[in-house]
Amino acid sequence: MANPTLLILAGDGIGPEVMGQVTRIIDWFGAKRDLAFDVEHDLVGGAAYDKHGTPLHDDTMARALAADAVLLGAVGGPKYDNLDFSVKPERGLLRLRKEMDLFSNLRPAQCFDALADFSSLKKDVVAGLDIMIVRELTSGVYFGEPRGIFEEGNERVGINTQRYTESEIDRVARSAFELARRRGNKVCSMEKANVMESGILWREVVQKVHDEDYPDVELSHMYADNGAMQLVRAPKQFDVIVTDNLFGDILSDCAAMLTGSLGMLPSASLGAPNADGRPKALYEPVHGSAPDIAGQGKANPIACILSFAMALRYSFDQGDEAARLEKAVEQVLADGARTADLMGPEDGTPITTAEMGDAILAALDASL
Ligand code: NAD
Repeated sequence: MANPTLLILAGDGIGPEVMGQVTRIIDWFGAKRDLAFDVEHDLVGGAAYDKHGTPLHDDTMARALAADAVLLGAVGGPKYDNLDFSVKPERGLLRLRKEMDLFSNLRPAQCFDALADFSSLKKDVVAGLDIMIVRELTSGVYFGEPRGIFEEGNERVGINTQRYTESEIDRVARSAFELARRRGNKVCSMEKANVMESGILWREVVQKVHDEDYPDVELSHMYADNGAMQLVRAPKQFDVIVTDNLFGDILSDCAAMLTGSLGMLPSASLGAPNADGRPKALYEPVHGSAPDIAGQGKANPIACILSFAMALRYSFDQGDEAARLEKAVEQVLADGARTADLMGPEDGTPITTAEMGDAILAALDASL
């Protein structure tokens, strides 16, 4: 059988540095676990603009659509801040998400014990936390029509429209139930059915999908404002949270910060399954290109490495190998390995991006 294909788009700023460590780890799985990938590299964001005058070349888009999974580093930087909106680095990322129709955005919030002190919440509230927020990514109020700023009488009015079709709710609900079956088997759906008709429909459709096809998964519903409160009061009550684009944007950032550093947070964006059952998929760290530390060997590669672990689990059905990689990360943190973002000013000398890669590779070797 042919190897699965990975397209790597390292991007700008710290993107290539953190992705450099991921490629070492991909090579390790090929050499030590008989899990080889055919890896291609291409440009996105500012790097693509510099070469082609566009943040995503058509050929790159075609390669992304053909690949079994795409791994992305980060895009953007001050050099590109004054470009026309249509060719800004972020447009490359948005085009990938749109043309791959990535409607389900997975944002895990996991707190490694060794970093529990880093959270702004009390240690016992977050230690051992492992939740997943599934955010609908391609519809809702960010896309609904009508939208705009209009004249109305003698003043202006700003309008955005929250709009969801049944099929849009259905497919993201399925994605959440499928995920829950691989985790704690619990889904909490969040909306504002008390004040929004789109919320009433959301609740009805999620319940229907559950009753018809996922009765084995425990389902609850919560108003999104209560959800925000519960996330900081007692986040460990949740397993998978499924919610719309707007609430998901806010709740996933809130949940992310429960765990400490931006350098630790992976994400996945999934689309509809292909004929082989594998979804279109883009994996990327939550952080940006961090121009303030780019090129200095200071970046934490863990968010990008954990994004590859998500690819192993969700694109390649290698849950055990994903867990091996996540445990290796946990082990090096427990052993005290820290890049600068995981330390206070008084905490000694941080290790470099490459040294963090070395430590994780050593922990992987030790796992055999
Ligand atoms: P950022 O995430 O790049 O950086 C925020 C802060 O966190 C910085 O101090 C940075 O040094 C630190 N940081 C981020 N990732 C880190 C890591 N792996 N290790 C250690 N420290 C890390 O956000 P920003 O500064 O608001 O944006 C910088 C650029 O990135 C902008 O051009 C922005 O548009 C772009 N951006 C891109 C993405 C993406 O590619 N998905 C996301 C957010 C921002």
